[in-house]
Amino acid sequence: MEQNEFDVVVVGSGAGALLAAIRAADEGLKTLVVEKMPLLGGTSATSGGGIWIPDNHDMGKAGLSDSVQAAFRYVKTCARGLASDDRILAYVETARHMARYLAGIGVPYRCVPSYADYYPTLAGAMPGGRTMDPIDFNAGKLGPQDLELLRPTCPGQLIFGRMHINAFEARSLLARERKGKFVLMWIMARYFLDYPWRNKTRRDRRLTGGQALLGGLFAALRQRGITLWLDTPMQSLTQEGGRVTGLVVRRNGQDMAVSARRAVVLGAGGFERNQQMREQYLPQPTDQAWTATPPEGNTGDAHRAGAAVGGALHLMAHTWGAPTLFVPKEEKYRAMFVERSMPGCMVVNARGERFLNESGPYPEFQQAMYANHAQTGGAVPAWIVFDATFRANYPIGPLMPSAAVPDAKLRKSWLNTVYWKGETLQELAGQIGIDPQGLLASARRMSEFSRTGKDLDFGRGDNVFDRYYGDVNVKPNPNLAPIEKGPFYAMKLHPGDIGTKGGLLTDRDARVLTEDGQPIAGLYCVGNNSASVMGPSYPGAGSTLGPAMTFAFRAIAHIVGKP
Ligand code: FAD
Repeated sequence: MEQNEFDVVVVGSGAGALLAAIRAADEGLKTLVVEKMPLLGGTSATSGGGIWIPDNHDMGKAGLSDSVQAAFRYVKTCARGLASDDRILAYVETARHMARYLAGIGVPYRCVPSYADYYPTLAGAMPGGRTMDPIDFNAGKLGPQDLELLRPTCPGQLIFGRMHINAFEARSLLARERKGKFVLMWIMARYFLDYPWRNKTRRDRRLTGGQALLGGLFAALRQRGITLWLDTPMQSLTQEGGRVTGLVVRRNGQDMAVSARRAVVLGAGGFERNQQMREQYLPQPTDQAWTATPPEGNTGDAHRAGAAVGGALHLMAHTWGAPTLFVPKEEKYRAMFVERSMPGCMVVNARGERFLNESGPYPEFQQAMYANHAQTGGAVPAWIVFDATFRANYPIGPLMPSAAVPDAKLRKSWLNTVYWKGETLQELAGQIGIDPQGLLASARRMSEFSRTGKDLDFGRGDNVFDRYYGDVNVKPNPNLAPIEKGPFYAMKLHPGDIGTKGGLLTDRDARVLTEDGQPIAGLYCVGNNSASVMGPSYPGAGSTLGPAMTFAFRAIAHIVGKP
């Protein structure tokens, strides 16, 4: 008979959840992880794996110096009063200790010295170094069987749908640095020459990004013999005398009570896959199909279970916003993080007018879509428009640069679903149903800006964050180029997300709080299941996974009474 008494039960198997389970086991606690889906890893496994860690141990090597005080000041401004100072402080103080712990359990990270914070002009921002990227992980340590249980990443993050690429390599390719060509050759040679591994599985042995993070955490979970139940959704929490004492799960078709002697840690993700909750809480219009997170899993189950035992829900109108696009046959929409920053493209509404800085942070991009839609009724969807020169040089969505994969070799089904094409801008406008005169005027203005290097309308390329994803060969502004050489192309963008950020309100130790600020004994919550410590904003790449794991780290310390 399966045992159903544990010290700690962790719900979900994203990064925060697994880190909590591993630390609990390291503290000698008998731990269970329950995951609703047949695969482990949630959105975390499909992510870039970046973590935003102020004053981290690797910054010194890059000649950068940071402080907890500066980071606190920066996050406090970003959070705009929607996260408590106490929680923000707990985060900025503890994140670096969590990053060291990660390295100790076999998931080392390095800082990305030139990846700036998302609001580089705010006091306390850093021009780089706080974002950390996972070091590549050898899936051999996990073994091919467990690798099959790890949710794979999205095809958009793989080279030719198969080979992993890390953030350093991706940037070098996209920015068309000289070494880019060699990077690509090296990635391909490494994959194709690894015959012993390829005989076992088609999946790449070299895991990067979220796959490296979750692969590493999964291996650490196995090393500690932690019990993992996949395909086992939590149904509800159980409570005795005001204390959460366990939960009910659905296992092998039956409800089963599981007791948690010390605590339940909720890490069951956001509610982005729940259309009814989206309509109840998020800005409209909204569609669960627009999220770039895996289907089905994150439906807010643990938001509702936590609220049912008295937990307060906060920040429910907010998402980790990002523009997304549809690609036929892919299980979810793709987020467009970086391509829109390259020179020679612009984003327009139905009037053919630009309304945002295309190179800005993705959450602001999504918010600008909603704001413009409220004014004009024509920014949902919006259109990213580019010319033949852009198309020749840069990948965008699933399209590789036409220099490598010309239009004739693209999938036929992508024309008029993924991309639209016209010999002239007027023809393109007609195809996508937007105002041709507006589009022409915007393209002309953009071309003028590219010659002076100054985007007089939205300041694109004016700061270090924008320029991180620009073409180093394009002058005077690496984010601006004329849009004048036909044929012209457009892709449809939706105000999507990479998860929701509203959830159960927690304190500095991830304890779930009631509306009057009292902790609920025995109940902790991390990741997108909890209200974000960042308030409505996104201070830097890694602002979701960093806090998820940091508060998991703190939760376990609190459970075992560590300072
Ligand atoms: P998840 O990782 O989604 O895990 C939640 C898990 O809980 C799921 O497996 C789900 O099935 C399970 N679950 C749900 N309900 C139940 C239930 N009732 N019982 C049991 N289990 C349940 N963020 C960063 O910080 N850095 C990045 O580099 C980054 N890159 C990204 C790239 C992409 C393409 C995307 C889509 C997102 C990215 N993000 C990134 C965002 C980040 O991935 C998510 O915010 C984060 O993974 C959320 O973690 P989580 O643990 O809260 O949820």
